[in-house]
Amino acid sequence: MKCLTPKRASFSDLTRFHSDKYIKFLRSCNTQTAQFQKKVGKSFGIGYDSPIFDGLYEFCQISAGASISAAQALNDGSADIAINWAGGLHHARRNEASGFCYVADCVLAILNLLDHFARIMYIDIDIHHGDGVEEAFYSTDRVLTVSFHKFGNFFPGTGNIRDIGCGTGKYYSVNVPLLDGIDDIQYFNIFKPIVDRLVEWYHPSAIVMQCGADSLTGDRLGFFNLSIKGHSKCVEHVKNFGLPLLITGGGGYTVRNCSACWTYETAVLLDFDPAEIFPNERIPESPYMSYFSPDYSFSPLSIEVPDQNSPESLSKTVETVFENIRHLPCAPSLQLSLQSGQILLEESEDDLIEDRLLSLYF
Ligand code: MN
Repeated sequence: MKCLTPKRASFSDLTRFHSDKYIKFLRSCNTQTAQFQKKVGKSFGIGYDSPIFDGLYEFCQISAGASISAAQALNDGSADIAINWAGGLHHARRNEASGFCYVADCVLAILNLLDHFARIMYIDIDIHHGDGVEEAFYSTDRVLTVSFHKFGNFFPGTGNIRDIGCGTGKYYSVNVPLLDGIDDIQYFNIFKPIVDRLVEWYHPSAIVMQCGADSLTGDRLGFFNLSIKGHSKCVEHVKNFGLPLLITGGGGYTVRNCSACWTYETAVLLDFDPAEIFPNERIPESPYMSYFSPDYSFSPLSIEVPDQNSPESLSKTVETVFENIRHLPCAPSLQLSLQSGQILLEESEDDLIEDRLLSLYF
């Protein structure tokens, strides 16, 4: 493992996706002026779950700068796997913060990868729908997004299985809605066939995987029943495709689960036996031991959430996903894609997205 020292993202790095006015606003934010900025902040999604705090802009620069550097390491071939556990902020929009996400590091990383690679596949195993990334690339075939998430009366509300992309991007957004309580076995039983089929069909030249840890059991905001082993089995499966791979963190609201999960997954990505890192499945001696008391186990404290996913409903979901992509026989060529227009969803198309969202709520 090489530890890179990434550069902070510059204004021009960030405005490759975000609007100038939004980034200028984030740059001006601090707690002294928070009261004053409340009103204007509202239009940028600032408030409630995405508040102003001191160092907000620096935080965004560091988080996004690391994902961009990770992309560049894959582009120049200096790494075959690049990890930024401080990234994966998949709800951020061009003009708006959402769900604890201010700057869309995944989108910026993918835009950088597209300088070098023809087709990028984005896989999201956070419990929440990867709406920001999906929306950014909703109208292009150069990025295939697939999100596995809890759907139904849950933030952000999007991610219906019927949402499959638009224009040139039609069929290149894949949504796998799940219900509470899904366990390791059922999760992998749906993850593997869908990801395998999409990789076989799309032939991605590189993969970006958002590994939000809020899909683990015991998460303070989540309702799934994944263990760290079950979660990392998905990461290992994606690693085994042998494609250039950018890994990010994401959500995760039971802190001990995030640190244990992402440490475990770092070991898996480096081909270490995680049993060496966690002898007897316990946290090794460290100054942070107390966070893992009383049992010092790396396993998440489990919550009893009954599994509402039946094997039948999951098979039906797999079938529908396969049916959605049936229309396209093979991967799009770069030449065709470049002729067919822009990558990012244009401003004028925001209305279209708005319609899509409204249709979900009403
Ligand atoms: Mn999340």
